[in-house]
Amino acid sequence: MSQTLALHGGPKTVTATLPPHHRWGREELARLTAMVDQPSLFYSKGPQCGALLEEFRKTYPLRWAFPTSSGTAALHVAVAALQLPPGSEIITSPITDMGSVIGILYQQLVPTFADIDPHTYNLDPAAVRRAITPKTRAIMAVHLAGAPSDNAALAALAREHNLILIEDCAQSWGAQFRGQPVGLAGHIACYSFNEFKHVSCGDGGIVATNDERFGPTLAKWGDKFYDRNPTADARNPATLAPNYRMSEPQAAVAAAQLGKLPAIIAAHIRVGSRLLARLQQAALPGVALPAIDPRDTHTFWFCLLRLVPAAFRVSRDEFCAALVAEGATASPGYIPKPVYRYPVFQNHNFFAGSWPLRTAGLTAVDYRQVSCPVAEAILADSISLRIHPAMTDEHVDQTADAFAKVARHFAK
Ligand SMILES: *Cc1c(COP(=O)(O)O)cnc(C)c1O
Repeated sequence: MSQTLALHGGPKTVTATLPPHHRWGREELARLTAMVDQPSLFYSKGPQCGALLEEFRKTYPLRWAFPTSSGTAALHVAVAALQLPPGSEIITSPITDMGSVIGILYQQLVPTFADIDPHTYNLDPAAVRRAITPKTRAIMAVHLAGAPSDNAALAALAREHNLILIEDCAQSWGAQFRGQPVGLAGHIACYSFNEFKHVSCGDGGIVATNDERFGPTLAKWGDKFYDRNPTADARNPATLAPNYRMSEPQAAVAAAQLGKLPAIIAAHIRVGSRLLARLQQAALPGVALPAIDPRDTHTFWFCLLRLVPAAFRVSRDEFCAALVAEGATASPGYIPKPVYRYPVFQNHNFFAGSWPLRTAGLTAVDYRQVSCPVAEAILADSISLRIHPAMTDEHVDQTADAFAKVARHFAK
C-alpha cells in the first residue's frame, strides 16, 4: 500500500522549512570595516588579499597562490600558465561548469572529454587513459558536487604520460581524497567563491600551485602580465594575459568566509551524510546512491542520485515533480546535457562562428562526434537534492521520507 502522493492531493511529507540563514555576518563586516580605512583597494600588497591567502593556506598549503575575479578566471590562469602550443589537448569531464573549458578555448587549446564513473560522477581513469592522444598535454579533473576524484589514479596517469594535472575544486571546498584536501595532488589547483559555492564573496576564485615551473609567473597570468614586484620595469609585458585580479572588498569577504570553512563544511557533511544514511536504510529498489569511499571526505555541494529507469512507472522528470510536490527541494539531473552537446560546441562557434584551430588544421576534433554514454545516462536519470547547511535533521529526514514515498509509489 502506498500513501497518496502530494501530487495527487495527499499530505505533503516535507513540512519543515529552512530557518533564517545568514551566510555573511560579523566576521565579514569586521574585515570590510577595517578595509575602509585602507588607503588602497588594490590586490597587490593588499591586507585583505593577504589575509585571504593566509586563510587559504591553512587548508591548502600551496606556495604560490593568486586570488582571481572568478573560478573561471582561476582556471584560465592555470591553463595559460602551462604555455602549451595551440591545438594541444586537455582532457576533462563532460559534466562540469562552462568555467572549466572557457580558458582552454581562449588559449587556443582543445578540451577533450573522457567519460565518468557511473556512481562517483567523476572522471573514470580508464576512460581518461583511452582519451590520451599524441596531442594531450594535461588532464583537468573536476571534483563534482563535493566528491573527490580518484586523485591517486589520475596523478599516476599524469606521471606516466608526462601530463599536467589541473584540479578544478570549485564544487569541492574541504573535500579530501584519502585524507588529502583536493587540490594538493595535481600540479595546479583552482577554486571558486561564486554565489553558489560552499563559501562565497559574490564572485571570486583562487589559483594555486607548488610547482616551480608555474608558480613564479602565476600572478602575471592574471594581471596583464605586469610585474607588481618589479626589479626593472613594471609594465613591459612579455606576453598576452587578461586582467583577472580580485579586489580588496571581494578578498575581505572571501577571507572571512574561509575562516568559517570548517564549520560550513561540517554542516554540509552533516546534512548530506544523514540524507544518504536515511535513503540507505529505506533500501529503495531502483535507486542508486552516490558511491563514496569511506576513506574519502565528500562535502556535499549537492547530492546527486540515480534512478534505474526500468524500475519505475514514470519518467525521471515526473518522479522529480512528485518529489517537489512533497515539499522536497529537488531538480532533475544537474546540467541539462554534457558540455560537448551545448550549441557552442556542436557548432564549433568559439570565435564569431568559427574555430580558427580547425580552420588552420591544428585540430581535427569534431564535437559532433563526441559521445560519453555514462555521462549522458547520468544526466538523463539522476535527481539532484539540495544540501543546505541550515537544514535541520527533521528537514533532512522528511526529505528522505519524501523520496522513499515517491519511489515506492512509482515502483513497478
Ligand atoms: C562554479 C564552477 C566553475 C566556475 O566558477 P565561477 O566562479 O562561476 O567562474 C568552474 N568549474 C566548476 C566545476 C564549477 O562548479
